[in-house]
Amino acid sequence: MTQHGEKQGETGRVTVCVYCASRPVPERYVRLAAEVGTGIAERGWRLVSGGGRVSMMGEVARAARAGGARTVGVIPRELVEREVADTEADELLVVDTMRERKGLMDAHATAFLALPGGIGTCEELFEVWTSRYIGMHAKPVVLLDPDGHYRPLLDWSRGLVESGFASRESLEALTVVEDVESALRACGVE
Ligand code: AMP
Repeated sequence: MTQHGEKQGETGRVTVCVYCASRPVPERYVRLAAEVGTGIAERGWRLVSGGGRVSMMGEVARAARAGGARTVGVIPRELVEREVADTEADELLVVDTMRERKGLMDAHATAFLALPGGIGTCEELFEVWTSRYIGMHAKPVVLLDPDGHYRPLLDWSRGLVESGFASRESLEALTVVEDVESALRACGVE
C-alpha cells in the first residue's frame, strides 16, 4: 500500500483494480464483469487485474481492451498456467509471490473494486478495506454486489459494530453499491 495522500497513476488518470472470481461461475457474473470492463473503457480509464484469462477476471480485461482501455495484469509465476496468463494485456507483470502481486496491483491502482468472488477475492478486498480504515491509503474501496452475494458477509460485518469488534467508521471505509454505474462513479471520486 502506498501512503495516504500519495499521488497515484502516471497521468492522474483513474486506474481501477478489479478483484473478482477466477473460477467458473454462472454466466450472469461473467456478463457483469464485461459490463465493468466496458464501463472502465468508456470513461477512458485503465484496468489493473490479476492477469488471468479465466472466468470474470478474464472477461473484465477482455471487455476493457475491446473498448480501448489499457490493461495491466499481475500474475504470480506459479499461476501462469492455472489462471491462463492474459498475454493480450498491454502489460503483463509476472511476479514470484502473491504478496508481490497484491503490492503491484495496489501501486497501479487509484481505486479498488470488488465484484462477486470467492475467498481469494475476499482476501484481496479485506486487505485494501482494512488498510483504508486505518489510514494507510485514501483510495476508494468499492464493493459491487448486485444480487446479495455478499449479504451474509455484510450482515456479519455490521454485527461487529453492535458487538463492539468494529467501529462504524471502519464500515464506512467500504462503499457498497448494487449497480455498475454507481460502482464506477464511486471509483472516480478523488
Ligand atoms: P477467488 O475469489 O477465490 O476466485 O480468487 C480470485 C483471485 O484472487 C484469484 O486470481 C486468486 O489467485 C487471487 N488470490 C487468492 N488469494 C490471494 C492472495 N493471498 N493474494 C493475491 N491474490 C490472491
